[in-house]
Amino acid sequence: GVTYVGIDTLQEQTRLKALRRGYTFNLLVVGRSGLGKSTFVNTLFKATVARRKSGEEEPLPSTTEVKTVSSSLSEGGVRLNLTITDTPGFGDHINNENCWEPIVSYIEAQYGRYLQEEQKVDRLLHIPDTRIHCCVYFIPPTGHSLSSLDVEVLQRLDKIVNVVPVVAKADTLTLEERAAFKERIRADLSDHAIKVYPLQEYEDLDDAPENMKIRERLPFAVVGSTTWHEIHGKKLLGRRSNWGLVEVENKSHNDFAYMRDMLIRTHMQDLIGSTAERHYENFRRARLSTKTT
Ligand code: GDP
Ligand code: MG
Repeated sequence: GVTYVGIDTLQEQTRLKALRRGYTFNLLVVGRSGLGKSTFVNTLFKATVARRKSGEEEPLPSTTEVKTVSSSLSEGGVRLNLTITDTPGFGDHINNENCWEPIVSYIEAQYGRYLQEEQKVDRLLHIPDTRIHCCVYFIPPTGHSLSSLDVEVLQRLDKIVNVVPVVAKADTLTLEERAAFKERIRADLSDHAIKVYPLQEYEDLDDAPENMKIRERLPFAVVGSTTWHEIHGKKLLGRRSNWGLVEVENKSHNDFAYMRDMLIRTHMQDLIGSTAERHYENFRRARLSTKTT
């Protein structure tokens, strides 16, 4: 007859172990300078970490150059070590040839570091993970199409890391312009065979409906701000102009909250897993096979 094997408890065991250890989630922010990347880093920290500490704000790490800022947050017994690496941005020079190189080598250096630890005779059971689980790519809100520079950078990044594209400073576009621009960018990405996260070809059947909705929303049109505004007794992050307040976390104002939810709430584990199983694995295989030949 059928005996109970008990593999259904495995998930619970894994979950408990993960809870104790906590999650390490590493984000990288990439794009031309002046698009609001540093602001976004601080916005994400404010909207994720600072908010939780019972009203009291955490002093925030400030970012100007290639800099990694970390913060640890704990919620319902789950610990999250959130790390965001800010890059200074590129595209400022007349000659932008190979401007992606520092970014690519940064990402690969993290894989290399992990591989080195993994290959040690006496290796750590849990290797400190600095691999980039997601790269948030900032597209200028031009209303036109993807620039050739963006295409070139994206074509290199999508081979080595999970890429989530965003339209920067979405408040500078009207709703109609945003919708048209997003559609144009999706077409450009597809024309240039640039693969952005979440990829259809690897998705779990269970995730398909949700991922479909996310893909329809890409690139996320985001607004960043580190200024709190007091509205009806509530503190909100937003950008104030003559004609009103754009609320960062209001889903009818922009896609910031959709993106935050995907990164931090719904897809964090998948981003971490796919980095290890695909991107790191590709790197490892390539690195080890060139060594032996
Ligand atoms: P970075 O060079 O990409 O790091 O850009 P910064 O974060 O330094 O921002 C450049 C400028 O854009 C600053 O004046 C920001 O206040 C402004 N900025 C940042 N995010 C937004 C946004 O969502 N909308 C608008 N309108 N301005 C923004
Ligand atoms: Mg910056």
